[in-house]
Amino acid sequence: MIYLDNNATTRLDDAVLEAMLPFLKEEYGNASSLQHKLGRQANQAIERARQFIADTLQVQSKEIFFTSGSTEVINTVLRGVFDRYQSKGNHIITCQTEHKAVLTTCRDLEKKGATVTYLPVDRNGIVALEDLKSAITAQTILVCLMSANNETGILHPIKEIAELCREKDVIFFCDSTQSLGKQAFDLTTLPIDLCCLSAHKFHGPKGAGVLFIRRKTKPIQIAPLHTGGDQEQGLRGGTYNVPAIVGIGEAIRLTQKVDFSAIENLRNHLEDRILTEIEDTFVNGKQEHRISNTSNITIKYVRASQLMAKIPNIAIASGSACVSGSRDPSHVLKAMGHTDEDAFCSIRISLSRYTTLAEIDHAIALIKPAIQSIRDQSPIWKMYKNGLLG
Ligand code: PLP
Repeated sequence: MIYLDNNATTRLDDAVLEAMLPFLKEEYGNASSLQHKLGRQANQAIERARQFIADTLQVQSKEIFFTSGSTEVINTVLRGVFDRYQSKGNHIITCQTEHKAVLTTCRDLEKKGATVTYLPVDRNGIVALEDLKSAITAQTILVCLMSANNETGILHPIKEIAELCREKDVIFFCDSTQSLGKQAFDLTTLPIDLCCLSAHKFHGPKGAGVLFIRRKTKPIQIAPLHTGGDQEQGLRGGTYNVPAIVGIGEAIRLTQKVDFSAIENLRNHLEDRILTEIEDTFVNGKQEHRISNTSNITIKYVRASQLMAKIPNIAIASGSACVSGSRDPSHVLKAMGHTDEDAFCSIRISLSRYTTLAEIDHAIALIKPAIQSIRDQSPIWKMYKNGLLG
């Protein structure tokens, strides 16, 4: 199997597994049971992980909150800010190309009285600062925009967006799920108020995430999603998942060693080969505005579902993993102005630090004849080549 679907999830790093194992076996204490040694050891492991994360992100450990992943963070932030800032307003700004976790939560909040602006993007998938500026009103309580898009890898101008939100005194939540381990993500220079991480996107375990909440002179208020014990400063009650937290700590520590440019070189090699060796293909989004590991490629008149059925030993995607059962064309590509046909004929290839040049070349050697054979049998392709279609 050649695994090229790392935006969906990544393989667990062996060192992460090693770090987690003791906490799945002999170190099984409840991290809130501070009366005995097993509990205290679990608690120390959690605080060590928190410190690793804070050191990696160069923030304070009190700004790090453990969760089950980014979907939980997104729900906590959107619902929790909406709950606490009703006296200021009910307006949330997001974008049409956000992850479904954001879009479905916003739709739900609309039913509860929120007004949501879904900003458009240009042909390259990028939101315009001017659009954001004119969307902000006195009622705006939150701007929620992702750093790297999970389907295309496209990067919004996050620094400028964060600065604008600060200038307008609006809370800015950045869904940074796809950034860590793939690009420099520096919270010392990015004035983001809130962001999230999900361990399984950078070779950590599934079910472990982080919410970063910047400490400000006027503290950001977020109502807890679910109430319970006073874990995580009362923001997230519930018994700690110690192995998962140890895992995310170790996984984050390991991201410091990642050579982003090596991944980018492989990604560029892959794109160069596909664009030059397979006719009527194009990459969605400009190279300089994309995260290092992601290529979203349209292959004219070759449905992603058909292609994937022909190459069962290569893991690629036709879009986001959480909507891959959907029959609808990608909402991200549609927002960028693509036709349904082109959206259905687009694949996402996402690399990791484990991907090799040999794997990419081998994948292309299998993909090329698969595309050829689909096109050879396609009347639409023949019509297109004869100039009968657009
Ligand atoms: N946001 C983005 C951009 C994602 O890519 C994902 C996962 O696919 C999520 C949120 C949800 O993350 P999780 O799997 O941690 O719930």
